[in-house]
Parts: sequence; C-alpha cells; structure tokens
Amino acid sequence: MNIALIGTGYVGLTTGVALAFMGHETTCLDVDADRIRDLEDGIMPFYEPHLADMFRLVRSRLHFHTGYDAIASANVVFITVGTPPGEDGAPDLRYVRSAAEAIGKNLKNSYTVVVNKSTVPIGSGNWVESLIRESYESVHGTKPNGRFSVASNPEFLREGAALQDTLYPDRVVIGASDSRAIEVLHGLYRPILEQAFNPPAFLPRPESMGAAPLIATGLQSAELVKYAANAFLSLKVSYINEIAQLAERVGADISEIAKGIGLDRRIGTQFLQAGVGWGGSCFGKDTSALISTGGEYGVEMSIVCASRRVNYRQRELVVEKLLHNLKILKGRTIGLLGLAFKPNTDDLRDSPALDIAKRLAQRGANVRAHDPIAMPRAKEDPAWANVTLCESVETMASGSDALVLVTDWPHYRKLDWPAIGVEMRNRLVVDGRNYLDPCGVRTAGFEYVGFGR
Ligand code: NAD
Repeated sequence: MNIALIGTGYVGLTTGVALAFMGHETTCLDVDADRIRDLEDGIMPFYEPHLADMFRLVRSRLHFHTGYDAIASANVVFITVGTPPGEDGAPDLRYVRSAAEAIGKNLKNSYTVVVNKSTVPIGSGNWVESLIRESYESVHGTKPNGRFSVASNPEFLREGAALQDTLYPDRVVIGASDSRAIEVLHGLYRPILEQAFNPPAFLPRPESMGAAPLIATGLQSAELVKYAANAFLSLKVSYINEIAQLAERVGADISEIAKGIGLDRRIGTQFLQAGVGWGGSCFGKDTSALISTGGEYGVEMSIVCASRRVNYRQRELVVEKLLHNLKILKGRTIGLLGLAFKPNTDDLRDSPALDIAKRLAQRGANVRAHDPIAMPRAKEDPAWANVTLCESVETMASGSDALVLVTDWPHYRKLDWPAIGVEMRNRLVVDGRNYLDPCGVRTAGFEYVGFGR
C-alpha cells in the first residue's frame, strides 16, 4: 500500500519506519524543513533505541517531504501531529486542524482511509471528517462522497521501547463507523496482528508473543480507550506513591509492599515503583484533557484529579527530603542524576528534573545536572538555562552537597560511589526512583534517602 504520515515525531516516524519494514511505500511529511532534511540524510531527530537501525534497513521505501502531495496517491493517511496541552488543560488541536485541512485539499484517490493516531479528545474523529470534507469542497467544488473515511487508531507505544511496542503490541485498537475503513486497516496491520513478519535481528520477537488482538470499536470508544489507559497507568503510580508516604511514616518498606500487592494478577507488578512520579509528553496532558472532557459532559473525574495532585506533590517531596537533611538550601549545590522523564529517551517534556531544578533554584540552591543521552537537547532548550549541565557525574558531584537520582538510567546503577563521594562537600543521595542499592551507597559513606523505605 501507499502510506502517508503527517508529523514525524516519536509516533509518526516510528510508525512510518515500522510500516516500511512491513513492505509499504511510506511517505513521512512534516512542516519542520530541518527535520525533513536531516531525515533525508539519515539523521534521527531524537534518541530512540533501534530506530536508526531499522531506518537503514528500509530506507529505500521511505520518502520525506515538507509538502502534502503524497496524500494524493495514499491508500492510508495517518495524522501523527502533536496535541500539546492548551492554556485551559484541553489539548491544542491546531496541528490536527491544519493536517486535516491539508488532507482535504490533496485527496485524489478513489478511496483513502484517514487515521487519527494523535491522541485527541472524544468527538475529534467527527470533527476531522468535517474539516476534510469542507477543505475538499473548497478546492474541488464537489462533495467528496465515498472518497474517504476517518478512523481512530490510538497509539500505545512507550518512548524508549517505541519500535518494540509497534512490532509486538499487546493489542491494536481501531475505531470507525465505516466497516470498509476497518477492513483496510486490518489488512495493513495483519502482519503485526498475526506476527507474520521476519523479526529484525536487533529486535527479536519475545518468546511470549502470540497473535495480537484487534479491538474494533466505534470512533468515540477508540478515542476514550487511549485517555482511559494513560489515566489508569498514571493513577497506579500515584497510588503507590501515596502508599509510600504512609509506609515511610509507619516504618514499612514500599518495595516489599509493591511486590506483595503486585504479584496479585489482578493488580500486576508494573507501574508500582514509588518515587518522583511520572512526567513526559503524555500522562500530564492526557489526564488534564480527560478532566477537561469530563467537565464538558458534567462528569467530575475525581480519581484522575487526585492522581495528578499526588504526582506533582512528589516533586516537592524531593525538596522536603533535601531540606530535612541539609536544613538550609540557600547556597547549597545539588546535582540531579537524569534530565529525561524516563530512561532510554532524550525527551524532556514535563521532565520531573526540570520542575525539581526550578523548585530548588527558588530556594536559592545552585543546581547542576547530568544525563547520559539528553544533554545535547537540554543545551538547546532555554528552559534549562539556569541549570549547570555537567559532562560527567564526577564533575557534577565535585563540591556538591547532595545528589538526587531523578531518572533511572542503568548508567547510574554502575556508579563508583566511593570515588564520587571523595570530592563532595556533603555526602547525601536522594534516590527519586528507589533504584540504587542503599547498602552500596551507604557503605561508600553516603546518607541514603529513598521514597517509602
Ligand atoms: P511530536 O511533537 O514528537 O511530533 C509531532 C510532529 O508533527 C512534529 O515534528 C511537528 O513538526 C509535526 N507537525 C505539526 N503540525 C504539522 C502539520 N500540519 N503537517 C506536518 N507536520 C506537522 O509528537 P509525538 O510525541 O510523536 O506525539 C504525536 C501524537 O501522538 C500526540 O497526540 C501524542 O499525544 C500521541 N502519542 C504520543 C506518544 C509518545 O510517547 N510520544 C505515545 C502515544 C501517543
């Protein structure tokens, strides 16, 4: 098939590369001309494991453009533009609007399926359809009857495991009111659903992987599945963080509690790590969008509100733990281990590290930070201008009063704590992910402070 994707971010580029791997001629479109030029030269716009490897494998089937001509011959057009949070918590849909208008102007095939893969509020499928219809009519002077259908295909990939999740998904959700659209997308996803492709050597098929179920739904259900999934995951993390606060008071250990409840199959062990909480481009904006949609329909999303409240409080808890141990933050030097919102990505959107850095700076501390991968991005981003970015953990630790682990990069588990402690003014580690070995850190002469332990 001919596939076009509008937006070459984490979702668009990963999906495009994976579909090219399945044998489709794939055109990736973006308004960012620098990004398109880099992609033509094989330069990835962000760090994502194995993406560059697969890109090289399928390069001959991948095409990159800033214009929208490729829509004319596409059987399927994916909208994969960003939907960042607006001022009022509802998503800013201006990029979706411009993508939909471009599709309407450029449709030429006898039948094209337009797929909303961006995370969009309930009802957006109908809205996108009307935008495409109107812009088609404005250019062609006729109605586009039967020429296109709109489907919703929410994306569940995790940054840092984006290709893994695309090739080996738990499920594929497709929402549409038109069975023809579901049929086309079923055909497109069949190799993935049936696991009928030869896995690349660098991403072997997990042994436990069988066929992936296709969940065919109406448009609204597919749109709501995405928000409901992210909100549920966010509240699992917030729940364990709330229990961690209690565990700390009563002298219990949250990692024992997480194991004790997580091995109950109804609960599951994932997303039960206490610490500084979630960040990133999705959970914050999607929970806020869900609350906003609930408000529009008169449903108070009280559990989702609580999840957000607990989550953002965790960042302040880091500052309180430092204050408790150092007594005074003014003039102290604090080093943050990790800038990215989670390991294996250089995505800095809604990064807990940045929020913690701002809170510390407000109290007069000097903030330093290190990250194994995300430093180049932070250097380009003015939001990090008041943080001293250090090329090594050792440089950052020298003369510091405390280190805070914010991102659980495997790199930080292998640190030589005795060597790091030598040059520190004060040996304190706040482990914001309960990730380090407390014994090893304490043996090196550090005070170790975790969350809920
Ligand atoms: P992103 O910000 O990384 O990329 C979006 C891209 O779209 C940018 O390169 C931008 O230049 C381009 N763009 C914007 N308007 C355009 C237009 N009119 N024409 C062509 N290109 C245009 O976004 P992302 O992280 O890939 O997220 C995309 C969507 O997928 C969002 O709705 C997000 O919520 C959702 N999502 C993201 C993730 C994730 O982990 N990042 C996971 C699941 C779902």
